[in-house]
Amino acid sequence: MTKVLAIDVGGTKLSYAIINEKGEFLSEVKKTSTSKNIEELVQTFKNIIAENENEIDMTAFATAGAVNIENTKVDSSTPNLPKGYNDIDLSTLSAKPVFVENDANAAAWAEYKVGSAIGEDNNITITLGTGVGGGFIVNGKLLRGKSGRGGEVGSMKINGHGRVCTCNRKDCWESYASGTGLKYTAEEVAQTDPIFSTSIFKNKQPKEVTTYDIVAGLKENDEYSIKVFNIWKQDLITGLINITNIFDPETIVISGGMGEFIDTKEVENAVNSEIVVSPIKIKLAKAGNHAGMIGAALLACEKF
Ligand SMILES: [Zn+2]
Repeated sequence: MTKVLAIDVGGTKLSYAIINEKGEFLSEVKKTSTSKNIEELVQTFKNIIAENENEIDMTAFATAGAVNIENTKVDSSTPNLPKGYNDIDLSTLSAKPVFVENDANAAAWAEYKVGSAIGEDNNITITLGTGVGGGFIVNGKLLRGKSGRGGEVGSMKINGHGRVCTCNRKDCWESYASGTGLKYTAEEVAQTDPIFSTSIFKNKQPKEVTTYDIVAGLKENDEYSIKVFNIWKQDLITGLINITNIFDPETIVISGGMGEFIDTKEVENAVNSEIVVSPIKIKLAKAGNHAGMIGAALLACEKF
């Protein structure tokens, strides 16, 4: 049996556990916060590895940020990870092999191997959270591109409204189809549509309406919330149509916090009515909250 120390590095949380080559957990998942200080963060990595190194065969990182083609470090990271993270060669932190993969790519691999798309050699996992992440399995392989950064589907441009994304570019799909995107849409509709004046949120400033408000408003049959949600959903569907036409997948797996608010059958029908390739299935993710760790561990087992 192969034992992999899997470490998931998110912007706020760091989780780790020992996982085998079947994607099964051999230890409980431990959690700590992700330090904003790079020296502290590296020390945390060293401590976690030291604590487990005798027992394991290799270490696998699933991390936010774009990972280099050699799977040894992050090339460009998100603003919520500490300055200097890109300079750390993670492969030097252990005497045993170390593998690094982007968290969305790793999650897609987990869905392919042990989740909702088992045996489907062409499938895509889209993570809908505060941003939009994507991992593409093409002909049974993880799409990485020439630099390792392939599959950054959240940066696909749609709409052309000029909405500014958190990356400072305009009209990224994730600035519409993420949880944050739902909030932006809520603000825009509140500013421009008279429907807001009859909403249960009419006493709030447009900027103050949150993603949670809209979700709560749906349950109250609030017309403004329904309108906002439908615009958000259409923006989600637009992106799914684009990637379906390009990649012709069997399945698109939806993961992340926003996934629970969509009716997958309804979205599947909407996508299938506007594509030129054969129909696809849309399913919710099954590999769970720790899909990134599982996928990174399985990929590490394939590499070493
Ligand atoms: Zn962007």
